[in-house]
Amino acid sequence: MITIIADGHTHTVATDHAFSTISENTAYAAQLGHKIICWTEHSPRMPGGPSQLLFSEIVALPRYINGVMVIRGAELNIIDYEGGVDLPMELVKKLEWVIASYHRPCIDPVDVKTHTKGWIKIAENPYIHVIGHCGDPHYAFEHGPVLKAFKECGKIVEINARSFSARPGSRENCIKVAEECAELGIPIVVNSDAHHYLSIGDVGTVLTALEEMKFPEELILNADYNRFLETLRRTSGQELN
Ligand SMILES: [Zn+2]
Ligand SMILES: [Zn+2]
Repeated sequence: MITIIADGHTHTVATDHAFSTISENTAYAAQLGHKIICWTEHSPRMPGGPSQLLFSEIVALPRYINGVMVIRGAELNIIDYEGGVDLPMELVKKLEWVIASYHRPCIDPVDVKTHTKGWIKIAENPYIHVIGHCGDPHYAFEHGPVLKAFKECGKIVEINARSFSARPGSRENCIKVAEECAELGIPIVVNSDAHHYLSIGDVGTVLTALEEMKFPEELILNADYNRFLETLRRTSGQELN
């Protein structure tokens, strides 16, 4: 049975629509037996999101809290279809794990062709590591050229458990994306997108779907401690000891 050993997408009260602190998140992760957690706060354009200052002061975030290694990341808002995101690149470069996502409060959906172009532009940004919850049907895209770009640009595709419940119509798209990742050999991460500590690691619905399709375990980066640590060493450029 596949399990995850770390959650690669979690939020805290630094955003006003999340409910737990980093201390609560790490304490719960420790209880689950996770040695790593990725702090991936919303960036400033999200209504109620933190200011840019939070990210420029990110070294103030201890590396270990409650015995869990905290990875200093962000979930960037994609703000146009030309590769634009809402933190300056000099800050993004310093982050260790960067997700980019389309969110409706930050960018209006247009059409398949435009969303396709938008993802390809995001794929071309070397400082963005993870493609966030791309199964959202509001931002439908042409899978062929986009997945090819993700593969060529070394992106990691997130399969987001919250999409299965909170973004109607996402499940089928997510499953299709996962099948295509398996075919193309694109690595994925399975994340909760927790907005409360009790959701951390709660990705069972995704893991069941992956098991049903016989998704190759070796492509799930956060299903193995050493595999995920090596991934984070690459994305962060840090030793992470
Ligand atoms: Zn998101
Ligand atoms: Zn999120």
